[in-house]
Amino acid sequence: MGKLPVFIAGDVNGRIPLLAEAADDGHIAGYNSIRNKNHCFCRRTFIGIVFTHPNIAAVGTKYADLNLDDIVIGAMDYKGQSRAITALQNHGLLRVYAEKSTGKLIGAEMAIPDGEHLAQECRE
Ligand SMILES: Cc1cc2nc3c(=O)[nH]c(=O)nc-3n(C[C@H](O)[C@H](O)[C@H](O)COP(=O)(O)OP(=O)(O)OC[C@H]3O[C@@H](n4cnc5c(N)ncnc54)[C@H](O)[C@@H]3O)c2cc1C
Repeated sequence: MGKLPVFIAGDVNGRIPLLAEAADDGHIAGYNSIRNKNHCFCRRTFIGIVFTHPNIAAVGTKYADLNLDDIVIGAMDYKGQSRAITALQNHGLLRVYAEKSTGKLIGAEMAIPDGEHLAQECRE
């Protein structure tokens, strides 16, 4: 027993305490637990969520890590966002970062009502 590997899946490993991460951890642990050699997997795009009101969330590359020479930033002020107005929660800011050279969306940061859902969608 002394030399057998131990796989720690889910919140208990202290990585990112989110459901999809726990599910991935379980999949990886199950996959590796029945093999002689551990296989490394690419993990999902970074995500961070603070469950405040409004939610604060970041997905992918954060502003601080951008190469600003190659970035276009799109911003949306939630003062005028129709669903947020209807819910009387029209406050907050969403910013998305796209790479000029590739046209790829590489990150988003937000402090908006129900931002956790948008952040998780951006990540899929
Ligand atoms: C209020 C709240 C809101 C959340 N909202 C979201 C969200 O919107 N989106 C999202 O992705 N994640 C969310 N999360 C995080 C998500 O719930 C966790 O990341 C996920 O449940 C972790 O799964 P897990 O299997 O690691 O742990 P858990 O789901 O906590 O499962 C652990 C299980 O082990 C059992 N257990 C504990 N001790 C023992 C023992 N000694 N013997 C036997 N069984 C034991 C527990 O009863 C439990 O069933 C939220 C968490 C909280 C608390």
